[in-house]
Amino acid sequence: MRKRVGKMATEIPFPYRVVRSRKRRTASLSIDMGQVEVRVPALVDNAWVEQWLLSKSDWVLPRLAQQREDLADHEIRIEPGAQIFVAGEPRRLKWRRGARSGVVETPDHLEVIISSRVRVAEVDAVHRQLKAWFAERAQSVLPERCEALAEATGLKPAKVVVKDYRRKWGQCSSSGTVSLNWRLVHLAPHLQDYVIIHELCHLKYMNHGREFWGLVHRLDADYDQNRRQLARAYPYLMW
Ligand SMILES: [Zn+2]
Repeated sequence: MRKRVGKMATEIPFPYRVVRSRKRRTASLSIDMGQVEVRVPALVDNAWVEQWLLSKSDWVLPRLAQQREDLADHEIRIEPGAQIFVAGEPRRLKWRRGARSGVVETPDHLEVIISSRVRVAEVDAVHRQLKAWFAERAQSVLPERCEALAEATGLKPAKVVVKDYRRKWGQCSSSGTVSLNWRLVHLAPHLQDYVIIHELCHLKYMNHGREFWGLVHRLDADYDQNRRQLARAYPYLMW
C-alpha cells in the first residue's frame, strides 16, 4: 500500500491528514486523539477531498471539539505542574533529585524523586517511575476490588490479572480470567467499578447483547452515565 500525506488546507475549518491508498475504493473519515484523518482511493484529487470534507464539517467539528476537551482534561503530560488524576483526584506533578528514586503522593501533589545516579533525561525518568508507581498501585488495589465485587455479585472469575493494554480497560476470557488495565487507577472509584462489573458480567454473557446490558444495569444503576464518562477518559490509555 502506498501512502501519501497531504498538507493542511486553508478552506477546511480543521486540520486533517490525507492517506491515499490504491486498494481503497471509497472515502472514509476518522478522528483519533484530536486528529482528523481522511482515507481515499489513490487517484482522488485534492479538490474532491476538500469538497467532501467540507460536506462533513457538521459531523467533524463537534466531535473534534469534544476530543480536544477530553485530551486537555485527561492527557498525561510529563511536565512540572501538569495535572494527573489518582483515583479521580487531581494532583500536580513535580519532581526533584534525591538520594533514592521514589514517588510521594500528597493531597496536592505527586512528587517524583529521581535518584542522583539516574543518567537518562529527567522527563524520561519521571515518565518511567510514574508509570511503574501507578502499575504497582493497580496491582495492590484492582484485584482486591474485583474480588469484593465478585463476592457481592456472585460473578466469580477463575483468575484476576492486571495488564498493560493500550486500547481497552479490561477483558474477560472464555476461561474466566478477568484482566484489568493498570490505567484504571487514574479513574474515579465508581468508574473503576463500572469496568470491573462490566467484565464480571462477561463471565455470564460473552457478548454485548441485550441480556448482557440488562445484567450490567441491574448491578450498576448508573452504568449508562458511567459508560459515557469512561469513553471520555480514553487519553489515559495512550501513555
Ligand atoms: Zn465488554
